[in-house]
Amino acid sequence: MDDVQGLADRLESVRERIARASARSGRDPGSVRLLAVTKGFPAETIREAMALGIRDFGENRVQEAEGKIPAVEPGPRWHLIGHLQRNKAKRAVRLFEWIHSLDSPEIAGEVSRRAADLKKRLACLVEVNTSGDETKFGVHPEGALSLLRGVTDLGAIEIRGLMTLGPLTGGAEGARRAFRDLASIRKDAARAGLLREDADLSMGMSDDFEIAIEEGATIVRLGVALFGGRPR
Ligand SMILES: *Cc1c(COP(=O)(O)O)cnc(C)c1O
Repeated sequence: MDDVQGLADRLESVRERIARASARSGRDPGSVRLLAVTKGFPAETIREAMALGIRDFGENRVQEAEGKIPAVEPGPRWHLIGHLQRNKAKRAVRLFEWIHSLDSPEIAGEVSRRAADLKKRLACLVEVNTSGDETKFGVHPEGALSLLRGVTDLGAIEIRGLMTLGPLTGGAEGARRAFRDLASIRKDAARAGLLREDADLSMGMSDDFEIAIEEGATIVRLGVALFGGRPR
């Protein structure tokens, strides 16, 4: 019960912070989707979040998701936010409605083929490595348009926009620069007819989501800000 109350309080606080960051940047708070990242948390936590009205959930590993998604009631939209290996595409397509981490034509093609087999259509984002951190996945910013061009015609995936992670170092200014870069790639892609002008920008986590909203995020991915520290 304490935990549920804690979650309700944190959710309220997160919603207020989303509203304030939206107001600061002249945006409608309804244009920012809250994605609850449940990696490391049990199915019970997901049910509590569902009871509070959260509808979008993210996991970053196929294997962990396989243990949890079937354990909760159907209803939420599930987003894969972590790197996807080709040999797991089939399992991922079964589990998820969204994939935030397309970063090569090969993985996009494989996701589309597997989705077509299951008569599904997946919403997908192209992940861009805006920080240059070598530990991160994602296409290099200079390669983003060419990847978008290569994946627009795949039948069973719909490219909805772009995703990035803030840098490991560089603080708030580093994060802002990365998010601004992603928004600028969206603008270039829209000019080239590859994305809509209001295509999704999935950016911002617990430490930097307000900056991301100021820079145009339409999806923020929050774990610890909602659920507290991850159990180890
Ligand atoms: C874990 C994770 C998040 C959420 O991180 P928090 O710091 O818990 O908010 C967001 N995006 C990705 C890709 C993640 O792996």
